[in-house]
Amino acid sequence: MTQNQLLLVAVGLGFLAVILLVSERLLRLRRKSSESERDRAAALQLSALRDELSSVVKGLSRKRDIADRIPPIAKKITERMPESSYLPVLVRSAKDFFDAYQVGFFSPVEGSADYTLEVGTGYLPDWQGQVRVASDEGLLGIAIQKRIVAARIDPLAASGLRASSRSLEKLGIPPDFAAPVFGSGGILGVLVVTGCPYPLEEERKYVSMLADLFSMAIQKSSLTDATKSGVWKDELTGLSTRLHFLQQFENEIRRTGNYQLSFALFMFDIDKFKQINDTYGHATGDVVIRKVAEITKKHTRSSDLVGRYGGDEFLVLITSCTQDQSIRYAENIRDMIARTELRIQGYDAPLKLTISGGLAFYPTHGQSTSDLMHAADHALYEAKRKGRNQVSVAPMRGLVDSPGAIDEEPPAG
Ligand code: GH3
Ligand code: MG
Repeated sequence: MTQNQLLLVAVGLGFLAVILLVSERLLRLRRKSSESERDRAAALQLSALRDELSSVVKGLSRKRDIADRIPPIAKKITERMPESSYLPVLVRSAKDFFDAYQVGFFSPVEGSADYTLEVGTGYLPDWQGQVRVASDEGLLGIAIQKRIVAARIDPLAASGLRASSRSLEKLGIPPDFAAPVFGSGGILGVLVVTGCPYPLEEERKYVSMLADLFSMAIQKSSLTDATKSGVWKDELTGLSTRLHFLQQFENEIRRTGNYQLSFALFMFDIDKFKQINDTYGHATGDVVIRKVAEITKKHTRSSDLVGRYGGDEFLVLITSCTQDQSIRYAENIRDMIARTELRIQGYDAPLKLTISGGLAFYPTHGQSTSDLMHAADHALYEAKRKGRNQVSVAPMRGLVDSPGAIDEEPPAG
């Protein structure tokens, strides 16, 4: 080999060594960078997990916090408080409950459709009784008009009612929640919570709970006085009066709507009751009404409500039930009454009685007291028409006023 050739080989080898060195370095670098990418991804995953865990822990501790706070409030408001204390206690409780920076109770201004701050915390002093907000605007308007707990995050809140200069939103106090509070005579006012630091989706049920708790306590306190005058309890049967029943019915619709449950309304009427009065006398008629009330009450859960709507007509609110369960319940009441025999002095044969009933389901047949009463009444009418001593279920909405139904002869009696 010549010297030149040797030099060429040496240069070639050197060149190869350089290539090997560079590629090894490159490989190591690439390995390093993919390692650090993996590290970064793992770190990200870890931090996401840590965030998730901390939000679960936060959620749990919030739940525990709520569970601790409810009993003392419930206790406080069920111990008879002076009526003037309910609203201040409600506002203070809501402020503590939601750590909100502003909580107000807005009530209607007499002789106007506007609402104004009645009790509040976190508001400027000139707000109370002076600033008027419209009852058909913004979140407050949704709560009043739809009678639901409205949250800022609801799609309805963004797309719903207009928010002109007379809404809380335009006045610079956009509420997180607006929850109607009901007294004996309807809406008493709206609880408005602003600046709640917790996730609103989760907090909504607690706002509902608090508003319901106070609605019930306020109604109970005004009913305690009404009880004395017989407004609450039917004197003949001891059942709820029409007024009390309808009020509780309204509450149930709201509660059920807020918690997305279902319930049934059972309306029934004694068959041929006039004949009983005519044959045995009015006093025996009273005994029959009392007996029907007693049987119904005995076979109804204590959580359900039985009312005397008037005359020989009764109503039952069957809460948290499926349609099948309520049909079985109604059939059982009908059967129990049909199997009852009353011994009447001076008569050999026992007095037998039957009832006819109509069932309507929330929300299938309506979402208001009047729609559901109408549906149940229609079903009752059908049961009478078909021969009495039976229970009918209301037809689906839209079929209620079909020509076939309204062209029928009314039942005799
Ligand atoms: P139907 O099968 O169609 O129901 O026939 P009915 O005879 O029962 O007719 P309806 O339900 O209309 O009759 C109710 C009657 O109940 C009329 C009224 O005289 C009587 N009534 C209403 N309140 C009382 C009450 O407190 N005591 C008594 N004894 N009778 C009452
Ligand atoms: Mg009758």
